[in-house]
Amino acid sequence: MDFFRYQDGELYAESVPVKQLAQTYGTPLYIYSKATLLRHVQAFKEAFAGRDGLVCYAVKANSNLAILQLLSQQNIGFDIVSGGELARVIAAGADPHKVIFSGVGKTEEEIEMALEAGILCFNVESAMELDRINLVAGRMGKVAPISFRINPNVDAHTHPYISTGLKENKFGIPVESALAEYQRAAKMEHVEIVGLDFHIGSQLTEISPYIDAIKALKKLIRQLYAAGIKLHHLDIGGGLGVTYSVEAPPLPNELLNAAYAELEDLFDDVGTLQVVVEPGRSIVANAGIFVYKVEFTKDNLGKKFAIVDAGMNDNIRPSLYGAFMNIITVEENPEADLELYDVVGPVCETGDFQGKNRQLRVRPGDFLAMRGSGAYCSAMASQYNSRPKCAEVLVDGDKVHVIRERETYEDLWAKEKLLEQE
Ligand SMILES: *Cc1c(COP(=O)(O)O)cnc(C)c1O
Repeated sequence: MDFFRYQDGELYAESVPVKQLAQTYGTPLYIYSKATLLRHVQAFKEAFAGRDGLVCYAVKANSNLAILQLLSQQNIGFDIVSGGELARVIAAGADPHKVIFSGVGKTEEEIEMALEAGILCFNVESAMELDRINLVAGRMGKVAPISFRINPNVDAHTHPYISTGLKENKFGIPVESALAEYQRAAKMEHVEIVGLDFHIGSQLTEISPYIDAIKALKKLIRQLYAAGIKLHHLDIGGGLGVTYSVEAPPLPNELLNAAYAELEDLFDDVGTLQVVVEPGRSIVANAGIFVYKVEFTKDNLGKKFAIVDAGMNDNIRPSLYGAFMNIITVEENPEADLELYDVVGPVCETGDFQGKNRQLRVRPGDFLAMRGSGAYCSAMASQYNSRPKCAEVLVDGDKVHVIRERETYEDLWAKEKLLEQE
């Protein structure tokens, strides 16, 4: 559910007309709804229903400081994948003790920085990474809390680029070698085993892959306990899908109820573990829309295009994943003819499109809104074709906050240097 709705033929973000935002702040423009964001966080919190759980928002989905600030005020934690993300959550005022550090390529500098900040846990993804963490922590006279990211070899039934739990994917440690790695870690002086985690993919629309993963890992957890290795938490990752068109993904409470049901016999035997989730998309995607203007329409021998002022540099999801994202008009246009358009941008690439074969009533100068644009859109933006990154605003009832200014042309080359003339 979200707070972007039509009233009298006009799209609103909470209590503010989207057209007014587009005119005031210019396009292309990302617009977020605070109420929607907080509602999604609440849904995860309530899904734990008094059980010992922790929500760690996956920062990479949308790392705007104001968004991180709002989320940290909800007392949730964060799942990060780089030193830059750690710096962001700290700058946003978050508590580093609720930060989990995932990712396959942590550098020594990043590990040092995370140990200095005192994060909750490193999700270790390889044997060499374990050695590196032990080494760096030893050098600093610290003990690093660790969890292993286990690859349970389950098919998440999602796009191959965002499927991460199969043995051919680069992520995690194969379940077959996990016990040996845990035993190695247990002997290390500068690491402390605190958990086990998996993250099998993104935009999952079924519960069954999570349950398959839990089933595969329950056996491993029993083996760990039999070997005297105890855990504090089990992290079931992020990946819960959202509705872009007709998907009907499970709700957070449906996912967690199913997970707890599957874990019941294990918890009876080894004691209850804290359950951690790392949602990104399901918290922010539908809390954002992306608004752009139709510059021209064009008819190439019957093939119609709506050329908009937003490109693949601003939102690469359609080009990168062939992702379908719903495009709607900001004002209903009963006078304009209903036509089939490819909605394309100004970037010099054939792959630069926002949507193909969309039934729309549009005229030049109209604004379009793309739903579900809060996750993996602005976060993946670039300046390709020397296009300044766009502005972002957050709507809170009838109040509007600019949370990222539109870049200027000077920003494009701010870090570049001319050669000195001899
Ligand atoms: C990307 C990622 C997430 C978040 O995935 P969503 O599909 O956005 O929920 C969580 N955990 C890890 C380790 C990730 O890489």
